[in-house]
This record gives sequence, C-alpha cells and structure tokens, in this order.
Amino acid sequence: MSAAPIFERLALIGVGLIGSSIAHAARAAGVVRAIAASARSGATRRRVAELGIVDQVSETNAAAVAGADLVIVCVPVGQCGAVAAEIGAHLKPGATVSDVGSVKGSVLKDMTPHLPAGVHFVPAHPVAGTEHSGPDAGFAELFVNRWCILTPPENADPQAVERLAAFWRALGTNVDTMSAEHHDLVLAITSHVPHLIAYSIVGTADDLETVTRSEVMKFSAGGFRDFTRIASSHPEMWRDICIANRDRLLEEIDRYSKNLGSMRKIVGAADSAALEKLFAEARAARQRWLDGEFES
Ligand code: NAP
Repeated sequence: MSAAPIFERLALIGVGLIGSSIAHAARAAGVVRAIAASARSGATRRRVAELGIVDQVSETNAAAVAGADLVIVCVPVGQCGAVAAEIGAHLKPGATVSDVGSVKGSVLKDMTPHLPAGVHFVPAHPVAGTEHSGPDAGFAELFVNRWCILTPPENADPQAVERLAAFWRALGTNVDTMSAEHHDLVLAITSHVPHLIAYSIVGTADDLETVTRSEVMKFSAGGFRDFTRIASSHPEMWRDICIANRDRLLEEIDRYSKNLGSMRKIVGAADSAALEKLFAEARAARQRWLDGEFES
C-alpha cells in the first residue's frame, strides 16, 4: 500500500483487459480511494459488478466521471472521440483525463475538442498487454516493470503530468514522456507492424490446403505458436489501431515489404553467403537492443 492515495476518485471508461488491470493494480497499490466504471454493453457492466473490482458501476460514461479527479478512458482508440464528447460536460473542474490507447496522435486530435478548459488532458499508453480481452482478463501485475509512455500536449500543466506519472509508477510501471507523433512512429515498428505480420502469417498458413490445420499447431514447436500468439488479439482494437496510425503503418509496411523482397531474391539465388551475412547482422542488431534494454 502507498502511504496516501494519489487521487481520491478514479473513473474507468471501458473495463476490458487494460481497464480491469488498472482497477486491480490501483486497489492493490492503494493509490485511489474509490473507483467508478462504465462500459459499452450491459453484459460487461454486469460482469464488472459481479467481479467486484470497482466500487461503483454506472450505466453511462457521463455518470461514471461525476466527481472523479482522474478519468482514464480504456476503450478502443476509434471510440475515444465519442467518449470524450459524452463525458466533457460532466467532468469535475481540475480533473485529469487520460487514456491508454495504442495510438496517440489520433486520440489527442479526437478527444481534445471535447474537453473543457480547466481539465488536464494527459494521454498515456501503458506498453503492456496480453492477447486476451474483457473484464475477466485483467490482473494487478500487468504493468509491473513495463513502460507507460505519456504524451502530454505542449501546454500541459507539469504538475498534472507528474501526478499521473506518480500514479503509473505506483502500479510498478516505468514512465517515459515523448510527443504523440514520435510515439506513433516507435509503436508502428515495435508493435503495429509485427501484429500485421502475425495476422498475415496466420492467413497464409490457413490458406495452405496441403497442410491440415491441426498440423500447423502440432508441428509448430515454439516458433509458429509464439510468433502468431498476438494474432489472437481483439479484432476491434487492432482495426482501430491500423486506421488511426495508417500513415505511419503504410511507410513501415513499405519498408518491410522492400526488405522481404530483398530476402526473396537472396533465397531465390541460393546465395548462402548473403543469407548468412543477413542473419548474422540481424542477430547482432537484436543483441545490441537487448544490451541497451539492460542499460535503461
Ligand atoms: P478490451 O479488453 O476489448 O476492452 C475494451 C473495453 O472498452 C470494453 O469494456 C468495452 O465495453 C469498452 N468500450 C468500448 N467502447 C466503449 C464506449 N463507447 N463507451 C464505454 N466503453 C466502451 O480492450 P483492451 O485490451 O482493454 O484495450 C483498451 C485500450 O487499451 C485500447 O485503446 C488499446 O489500444 C489499448 N491497449 C491495449 C493493450 C492490449 O494488449 N490489449 C495494451 C496497451 C494498450 P464492452 O465490453 O461493453 O464492449
């Protein structure tokens, strides 16, 4: 338990994997006194009430934010603008509004126009997750030793940014700050393109009629199973991410296609020296990243 709550009342809009994990972790860390929540469907709201992971479940997003001094919007990024429009007029003056979306430029653009003056908007992305979704999927340790990236707008109040950073640190998370634009470039290559590749590999294997579907998993050992795990992620969430970050994604897909094309040529030419060089360079690059990771 932390010595004193950082926020009195937390409102979670959306209680899937990320929202429910925040509820578990915030309670375990004692960083808020009370948690209110809402979700889109009656089924999810009922399940959240049954699980008992928040203090109050509201029928509407507007009702959930009443009196909250921290509001975290935990919905697919394509819903963020509509949610901001619903809650804008009901926010407590001085409240901090944040989110957890995997794309930050679109969230900033879609939510900002609906948030009143006197409310602090500090978008965030906890870079932590699993391929599971829904309120049953959450757990308190999801964010421990992971990173949360804050992308405050240029005019953000430094105290509000620091208070939100303190909230995330209390959940065991490392905090970094960058522009929304830079975030979207970094995440396109580290997360969004790998997800698209996983989806396309699953599609490619599924189309291969000479290999039965059971053989695909039976003979995959670790590789195929691990590599395609992320293709089990929520389709709505990934649809929204791809559309929200499409400009960056198109650039990175083009770079990736070019690399794959070069690889195809080398394989086609049975150029064993070039193949070995390519694999050795990739192995060395990955090792450098791992070494850098240990330094931070
Ligand atoms: P999820 O498990 O599918 O949960 C989404 C939640 O949002 C559900 O409770 C859903 O309610 C609710 N919702 C959707 N539209 C809503 C609306 N208009 N008003 C109120 N509630 C609404 O998704 P998640 O994995 O928690 O992801 C949530 C966000 O976190 C996304 O923006 C995603 O990009 C980001 N994120 C995800 C991960 C990850 O690995 N999953 C990691 C980092 C960040 P219903 O169930 O009733 O539809």
